[in-house]
Amino acid sequence: MARYTGPVCRLCRREGIKLYLKGERCYTDKCAIARRPYAPGQHGQERRKLSEYGIRLREKQKARRIYGIMERQFRRYFEKAEKEKGVTGENLLRLLERRLDNVVYRLGFASSRAEARQLVRHGHFTVNGRKVDIPSYLVEPGDEIAVREKSKESPKFQELAAQAAHRTPPAWLEVDAANLRGRVLALPTRDQIDVPIQEHLIVELYSK
Ligand code: SF4
Repeated sequence: MARYTGPVCRLCRREGIKLYLKGERCYTDKCAIARRPYAPGQHGQERRKLSEYGIRLREKQKARRIYGIMERQFRRYFEKAEKEKGVTGENLLRLLERRLDNVVYRLGFASSRAEARQLVRHGHFTVNGRKVDIPSYLVEPGDEIAVREKSKESPKFQELAAQAAHRTPPAWLEVDAANLRGRVLALPTRDQIDVPIQEHLIVELYSK
């Protein structure tokens, strides 16, 4: 599956907020948003009023960028969310949160979703004891996500275990940092998804 490979700090500057795409660096004063808090490009410092369409478009782009998803796949998530019972915007966010790369990040086993995606791709994780190397795999309540036995001994995962011990996962997940595993307790509710997105704007954009 395709993914964005350009400079990621530029994406934060375009959206005007921290999207936390670079792991630990995002929490330091090296963050580009702190250094250059204006949009990238020649006219980045000009003030521009967005149209109604522009506001909705930016909201969708922000969501795509936070979760690292390309347009076509994002659209597919929206179509799936529309078919589910309940509020479409919330369904959409819930689907995005259920991605295995996001869950690995939320459990604290990676410092960013991009890193989580790479670790999943490289086959370092199991779901219910079976290797899964598909970042878009959707977890279900009761699923157990773990670092593979072979990978646990590597210095990288020892470091991640130490980091994970200091992070608090959202209430819908349970983590056992010392053993590098976690469990999905339930599907997340909207108030458990801490992303700065007004999902109703995305629904309005696609519903035109
Ligand atoms: Fe965004 Fe992180 Fe880059 Fe800051 S350091 S601009 S939060 S990706």
